[in-house]
Amino acid sequence: MRKINEIFYSLQGEGFHTGTPALFIRFSGCNLKCAFCDTPHETGAWMSDKEIMQQVAECPARTVILTGGEPSLWIDDAFIDQLHQLGKYVCIETNGTHRVPASIDWITCSPKGVPVVLERIDEVKVVFTGEEDVEPYASLPATYHYLQPCSCRNTQEVVDYILRHPFWRLSLQTHKYIQIQ
Ligand code: SF4
Repeated sequence: MRKINEIFYSLQGEGFHTGTPALFIRFSGCNLKCAFCDTPHETGAWMSDKEIMQQVAECPARTVILTGGEPSLWIDDAFIDQLHQLGKYVCIETNGTHRVPASIDWITCSPKGVPVVLERIDEVKVVFTGEEDVEPYASLPATYHYLQPCSCRNTQEVVDYILRHPFWRLSLQTHKYIQIQ
């Protein structure tokens, strides 16, 4: 059994896969307690893999995004194998404090001031709270490095920073702009 906060079908609003239709599986709970956390993830229901995979199988999208909370607390190789057997492309959004199954297709790491233990990262996505907070993450071994405004409030500041530090790319929370989940 795995504790699930919600499962919903929408478009990925952020980062490399922005605009991609995906089934989001939001797991309950997190090992961190960030002051700015606005994710209502603590509540949830226990679901069997059979119940979860039934919803996955019914979704027309190829992409499944494991998110939270912190999804790495809840998943294992067997879970990822089941998603692959249904033909899904499996992405995870993690804070990087726990290892994840190597078979996951795409790893998005959003570090939160705690050491990252991941050996492979496809994209780093950092919420921009100030220049001094961002630079330590530039050295993480990721293919893409994104900066994201903090709840759409400091977008111009982030744009200015990226223009001065073109190593970074901009990630917008487009789902908030178009008011979808
Ligand atoms: S790591 Fe993410 S989900 Fe966990 S407390 Fe921090 S912001 Fe919230």
